[in-house]
Order: sequence, then C-alpha cells, then structure tokens
Amino acid sequence: MEPNSVKVNGVHFDIEYVTNLHIEGENCEGGMWLSERVIKVDDSLVGDRLHRVLRHEVMHAYFGLSGLTELLPANVEEAICVMSETASYEYLYDGFN
Ligand SMILES: [Zn+2]
Repeated sequence: MEPNSVKVNGVHFDIEYVTNLHIEGENCEGGMWLSERVIKVDDSLVGDRLHRVLRHEVMHAYFGLSGLTELLPANVEEAICVMSETASYEYLYDGFN
C-alpha cells in the first residue's frame, strides 16, 4: 500500500505520486517541498525502491524543518540522506538478531 501522507517531527506532509517526475528540468525519483509540505515521488516506483526514496525525502524534510538545510552544504545533506535510506532500513528490518 502506498502511503499518502507522513508526519515529520509532528508536521503533516502530503505524498503525491507523479508520472515522469521532473524537478528543475531533471528526471527525478523524488523531491520534497518544505513550504508546501509535500513530498512527490515518481509513480513508477514500487516496493522497496519506493520506500527507499520516501525515506530519503523524509530525511530532507527533517533537515528542512530543523534549519540544518540552511547551515550545511547541499552535498553534505544529500550524502546524509542517501546514507539514511539504508541505515534506517537496516535498523528497522534487519537489525538486532
Ligand atoms: Zn536528496
């Protein structure tokens, strides 16, 4: 089941599924719009890949809401968001034997 919203630090974000998602002219799997409280993902994504992209965009929302986006270079935030795609997954689903 595809989620339609998510709470990030208590803030409601809508999740929209977009055909051929493009951001600033580039084909993208996902994006997050802080002021609109919206996460958009390409509607071709399913299963694990969909949830991986959602975790990535939710992490961007945490950075945006906290103000860290304004303090960190964009490539640092991006690297942390990529790391969190798998870090949170491993912790929640594969961790603690
Ligand atoms: Zn990103």
